[in-house]
Amino acid sequence: MIPVELARQKILDAIDRSPPLASETMPLVKSAGRVLSESLVARVTKPPLAVSAMDGWAVRTEDCQTIPTYLQSVGEVAAGQVPKQKLKAKQTMRIFTGAAIPQGADAVVLQENATITPDGQVEIHSPVQPAQHIRQAGIDFARGDQILTTPRLLTARDLSLAAAANYPDLPVFMRPKIGILSTGSELIAAGQKPKSKAQIINSNSYGLAAIIIASGGSVIDFGIVEDDAAVLEEKIDLAKQVKLQMLVTIGGASVGDYDLVQSVMASRGMVLDFWKIAMRPGKPLIFGQFDEGRLFLGLPGNPVSCYICALIFLRPAIQRFLGIDRPMQKIRATSTMPIKANDERREFQRATLVQSDDQGWQVTPAPRSDSSLHSVLAAADGLIERAPFAAAVVAGEEIEVLLIPPGF
Ligand code: AMP
Ligand code: MG
Repeated sequence: MIPVELARQKILDAIDRSPPLASETMPLVKSAGRVLSESLVARVTKPPLAVSAMDGWAVRTEDCQTIPTYLQSVGEVAAGQVPKQKLKAKQTMRIFTGAAIPQGADAVVLQENATITPDGQVEIHSPVQPAQHIRQAGIDFARGDQILTTPRLLTARDLSLAAAANYPDLPVFMRPKIGILSTGSELIAAGQKPKSKAQIINSNSYGLAAIIIASGGSVIDFGIVEDDAAVLEEKIDLAKQVKLQMLVTIGGASVGDYDLVQSVMASRGMVLDFWKIAMRPGKPLIFGQFDEGRLFLGLPGNPVSCYICALIFLRPAIQRFLGIDRPMQKIRATSTMPIKANDERREFQRATLVQSDDQGWQVTPAPRSDSSLHSVLAAADGLIERAPFAAAVVAGEEIEVLLIPPGF
């Protein structure tokens, strides 16, 4: 058994050695949540020229040395218009937010700080500072400025920024292609009618696919294969024809007579990196490489083990392919219950969390820890991470809890 941190590091190191992801061009609206694959420089200057930040009057400060002062209006300029004339002494122009500052003007007076006199003059009745309420050309960015750097997980704000810099589409990394294959003679697809009481539904593939997609990958589902070496070999050969970044199997990873994944993968050229990790649940994890730089991850079949291994190893692996690192958030919470001292395996205990103003986070470990229980897993909000040999916890003690990321 190797420690969890070492297992994770081995996976990340293998990804660093594997071929980089190719890029594709995506329209802006489809780029949210993707990872930028090239740094971007602004294609335009924003704003392109000095503009007004307010609705008001464009003035020359030198005309406003004594207050009140009276100016003559010579027209107006709205956003999108180019001012037709230059302001001369004692002249002003009505101006609106985003409109170009006319030549000669060097300040904008708020509309609230000016009134029109009965004889049509514009009375400015508060002091004027040079450059007030003017956004100078290029204050957001200038043409050629770097605005976003790769690798970057694109947010809604980034898309607006890129659009403002005149990009209609963006270069993003292709999603890492992750193949999934469920193994087990007892499994049928969701929605199928069991032919016998011994059959169960392949539930893990669905959750795993969702984890892959939410982590930034794309899924190629190779379905279910029974526990038969010849059939498994055939399926794996088929999977090898697709240019996957990683093949992930579910089940058959342990030491039972029908746990064939490791031996069949080895017969198909997999070089084993590790098998068995000091983790609960999830001990029989397999990791290796096949072909050139293609990675193999053999997940245990028990639903909770499969899920937690995917969260702890596959999610960061997909992020690593994409060049990003979004570790799960850790919080400190008060345990409502005592917890036993831990043995040599790092443990991830399902737990529910409640947050309140006066007591902060309160965490309750799930009452049942059987790794087959979907119902308990789905009810959890977090995982209590217990280091190897962690001491017992008494009720009321603060402990560390990993928050299950939204959507996972
Ligand atoms: P295994 O790792 O193949 O020994 O499977 C351990 C347990 O997980 C068994 O009870 C299997 O029936 C169950 N199991 C394996 N694969 C899946 C799957 N894809 N969906 C749901 N349960 C599974
Ligand atoms: Mg099995």
